[in-house]
Amino acid sequence: MRELEGKAALVTGAGRGIGKQIALALASQGAFVIINYNGSRQRAEETLKEITDAGGSGVTAGCDVSDFAACGEMIQNLIREYGKIDILVNNAGITRDNLLMRMSEEDFDQVIRVNLKGCFNTIRHLSRHFLKQRSGRIINISSVSGVMGNAGQANYCASKAGVIGLTKSVARELGSRGITVNAVAPGFIETEMTQNLPDNLKESMTQQTLLKRSGSAQEVASAVAFLASEGAGYITGQVISVDGGMAL
Ligand code: NAD
Repeated sequence: MRELEGKAALVTGAGRGIGKQIALALASQGAFVIINYNGSRQRAEETLKEITDAGGSGVTAGCDVSDFAACGEMIQNLIREYGKIDILVNNAGITRDNLLMRMSEEDFDQVIRVNLKGCFNTIRHLSRHFLKQRSGRIINISSVSGVMGNAGQANYCASKAGVIGLTKSVARELGSRGITVNAVAPGFIETEMTQNLPDNLKESMTQQTLLKRSGSAQEVASAVAFLASEGAGYITGQVISVDGGMAL
């Protein structure tokens, strides 16, 4: 029997990049995967097709994670239709990079709304269900930037550091009810989010790793799949770096 057979997992922002690989990894372990998307329904349907072509199962669910009420509606509908959710992966994220002196209030607020409040929104709505089940796995995607800070990303780093604080606090609140809450902090991962960064910046980030290379979305997904597995049942409140040693 596969590790996640009979489990249902909600992955936010799973139409592409790291979220897509997380969805594929969880499905390959037997989970029924709910592929959340906001922008492109087509990309989410493509993720689902890859899952079903490989013999897995899932559905797509559109919702802007920064919208508290919409998250509540999505989660209620999913539980009504599919009975339960066991694993929540908060992956959806955006960047609006600029130096502090040039950063607009809107760009600061929007990054916090999606990256940090988005995690709160889904956790807040799903935790009641997890508490009733007396089980659940919550995995939040933070970033090496939230651990180390990064010039030009004050909004993003603040949001990702916030995700770590949220993770630790919720782990403390929900631990006694059998719910684990962890964060994964990826380093420089090749996705559409990073593809347009200047080459010199990519080279400098690669050089900051101990392994002298960027990471893949699959390498982040492996860590998430582990945290979702039975084998990770005694791990909670942790930040697992998947960064080639960048933050050491
Ligand atoms: P990406 O831009 O390829 O994917 C982000 C996904 O989130 C997209 O599918 C997008 O549609 C979705 N999304 C954005 N706003 C949303 C919203 N309001 N509601 C629902 N979905 C929304 O980026 P990625 O590189 O795959 O990043 C995935 C996560 O990993 C993000 O949280 C990102 O901050 C984090 N991360 C990425 C890297 C990296 O180097 N790529 C490093 C550290 C952390």
